[in-house]
Amino acid sequence: MTTKDYIDIEEKYGAHNYHPLDVVIEKAEGIWVWDVDGNKYMDCLAAYSAVNQGHCHPRIIRALKDQADRVTLTSRAFRNDQLPYLCKELCELTGYTMVLPMNSGAEAVETALKAARKWGYKTKKVAEDKAEIIACTNNFSGRTISIISFSTEQQYKDGFGPFTPGYKIVEYGNAEDLEKAITPNTVAFLVEPIQGEGGVIIPADGYMKKASEICKKNNVLLIADEIQSGLGRSGKLFAYEYDGIRPDMVTIGKALSGGCYPVSAVLSDKEILGVFNPGDHGSTFGGNPLGAAVAREALKVLIEEKLVENSFELGKYFREKLREIETPHVKEIRGRGLFIGIELKHEAKGARRFCEALKSRGILCKETHEHVIRFAPPLIISKEDIDWALPKIAEVLTAL
Ligand SMILES: *Cc1c(COP(=O)(O)O)cnc(C)c1O
Repeated sequence: MTTKDYIDIEEKYGAHNYHPLDVVIEKAEGIWVWDVDGNKYMDCLAAYSAVNQGHCHPRIIRALKDQADRVTLTSRAFRNDQLPYLCKELCELTGYTMVLPMNSGAEAVETALKAARKWGYKTKKVAEDKAEIIACTNNFSGRTISIISFSTEQQYKDGFGPFTPGYKIVEYGNAEDLEKAITPNTVAFLVEPIQGEGGVIIPADGYMKKASEICKKNNVLLIADEIQSGLGRSGKLFAYEYDGIRPDMVTIGKALSGGCYPVSAVLSDKEILGVFNPGDHGSTFGGNPLGAAVAREALKVLIEEKLVENSFELGKYFREKLREIETPHVKEIRGRGLFIGIELKHEAKGARRFCEALKSRGILCKETHEHVIRFAPPLIISKEDIDWALPKIAEVLTAL
């Protein structure tokens, strides 16, 4: 079986809802992956930041195997002996006081939106079916019908209507626009402190702080979607920390399990998540003991191996070194921690061909938004690893 054989089978039997690089991975360890032809690559995508702890982290895999031998799924019809600890440990780590576990990121966002609406009706006393939620231009929060209903990306919506009503769009990074859009029926403002899929977009300093003040003043819940930016990716545990704020709700996922299992959650407090009564909301797999055990270990690894600090330090180093590369193609290099975007000039003819060229030199990256190359390696990466990659990146940015 060659790379082409695998691709042919997948193209024949699998739906074509992705356009992956043609590399078929069969093994991974730390920041490295190997394809079926035996080639080795540095993974600079880390599964969209789900693998912050590195591939197949031995401690997380051990927790997965141990828990798999005991009990994997009880459903929430019964209790299990892992979920209580996950909730408690998440609260102790983040300073929130209540957790609602789900599986995928989109489900966590849907959960936060449902909580915000119900809070709006029960606590803020918005008239029935009038609740409004504000989202930003260029947002990405998942692929469900409700979430794409407030997407501003035409392709994400094309052919999927009719859409869920009750959403308004404001310009990302523009606090005045937010203030103007708020009405007495506004229950929440959903925002990514750094837009990942949108192209690693960092709003101006103080934007999140202003947004937080505006929300507080108007009794509107601030929901930070930290599914990609959170858990160390930005060089802080959460990207909102750069603005010194505390959102009312935070959605997490991706690296919550270190890439070993789909686990997501909403973090908040009793005044908000307390609106859910038994039967209001749920998920068969949400809070299952296998996912909970994996997430507990993944969080311990993140803290004990100081991956947040490593992300901050090495992200700074990586960006500095990238800026030293002399190339006609680069418009901007930006990022926080190991969440780095290289925006190319339009004359560079798209990021995809740079990603293909990096692949042939042993580095896996994925373009985002046509003109941006995202570098987001596992947070366990070392300075030596970055020094290995830099000349290859320089070659690609200058040769093409
Ligand atoms: C990936 C992502 C999601 C959706 O997560 P899924 O697990 O793919 O459903 C939501 N919000 C942000 C910011 C993301 O990056």
